[in-house]
Amino acid sequence: VLLEGDVNEQTASVVARRIIDSLHDPLPLAGTRVRARASIGIALSSPGDTAEELLKKADVAMYRAKAQGKGDIAMFDPQLEREINEKIKLDSLLRGGLHAKEFVMHYQPIVDTQRGQITGVEALVRWNHPVRGLVGPDDFIHHTEESGLILPLGNWILESACEQAAKWQTIGPIDVSINISVRQLQKPGIVNDVMAIVGASGLDTRRLILEITESAILEDVEGTIVLLNQFKEHGIRIALDDFGTGYSSLKYLRDLPVDILKIDRAFLGSLDEGERDRWFVTAINQLGRSLELTTVAEGVENWRQLILMRDLRVDRVQGYLFSRPVDTAKVTVLLQTGVFDVAPVVPLPVVLRA
Ligand code: C2E
Ligand code: CA
Ligand code: CA
Repeated sequence: VLLEGDVNEQTASVVARRIIDSLHDPLPLAGTRVRARASIGIALSSPGDTAEELLKKADVAMYRAKAQGKGDIAMFDPQLEREINEKIKLDSLLRGGLHAKEFVMHYQPIVDTQRGQITGVEALVRWNHPVRGLVGPDDFIHHTEESGLILPLGNWILESACEQAAKWQTIGPIDVSINISVRQLQKPGIVNDVMAIVGASGLDTRRLILEITESAILEDVEGTIVLLNQFKEHGIRIALDDFGTGYSSLKYLRDLPVDILKIDRAFLGSLDEGERDRWFVTAINQLGRSLELTTVAEGVENWRQLILMRDLRVDRVQGYLFSRPVDTAKVTVLLQTGVFDVAPVVPLPVVLRA
């Protein structure tokens, strides 16, 4: 919409609001009524701006309006443009990286608290950037979810982790846990996609665990329950990740077809500080056990935490005490020998029995 004449931020905003308001009433469409919303970006032309530049600025502002929660208006500002350009650059680097096979999978062992054996590994993606070196997922997963790149990247993650896990089966029945983001769950046909990848890898579906977070479920509870049941019919197990950090709803926990509850490391981090946190871990673990779920404590960094987890009868533990996430070669050695090179040099099973 082009406003000509004596226009300023305020008059432009008034027009934008009127447009949004006029869309407010439901519209009849193919026998039903639908509600439309608009996100509007506003840019004022500066002397010398071409029509194209003005449109581009309005477009940049529109993305901010969308980011503010959609159905809103936003004004252009140059800082915003820099941020968006950064995003576009990162996105193209990430796409290029996927194409150039710059992503690698690292794996972190998950250990049985009673026997001290590795029951499986969690697959954690890294980006091996040619200049920046190894970049952790916290710096890029969010972007790939926003841009949709998580779909091809997620497929690659599934492929490489399942292929690798299939090879490890000669060592023993080793589980592989793979993180699945909301965006992937929402993709139509996701169950078939996953099954095709697992099938091609030759991995027994009973060795595969998909980790999903609470926020992924809350987007659409009913739909997620149907999906998760489909995975389970194929023998795949489901882990509820980062439990206790999101909008944990006990009702959902009761209804959800999950097998494993992962207690977030936030609850372990402060264990040394006081009784209160101990009670939280105890309660969450009890809850999981009552629902007959396998419980896994994340972020076990020291022996105190480990011993407490074992005493509380948390089923499994994962954390730097045993191993950081490491590359395929290193984790393969851990799986073969069961000896941890980063933890105290005490053979683990002995300590656990003590
Ligand atoms: P997450 O699923 O909760 O993964 C566990 C994170 O905790 C990993 O961080 C791991 O390195 C870290 N961690 C493990 N043990 C300890 C410990 O003892 N102390 C501390 N302080 N941290 C520990 P990472 O690899 O940086 O991954 C961060 C997050 O990125 C993951 O959190 C997950 O949400 C996401 N992510 C990682 N890989 C993938 C992937 O392949 N796909 C998707 N969709 N998300 C992924
Ligand atoms: Ca996880
Ligand atoms: Ca987690």
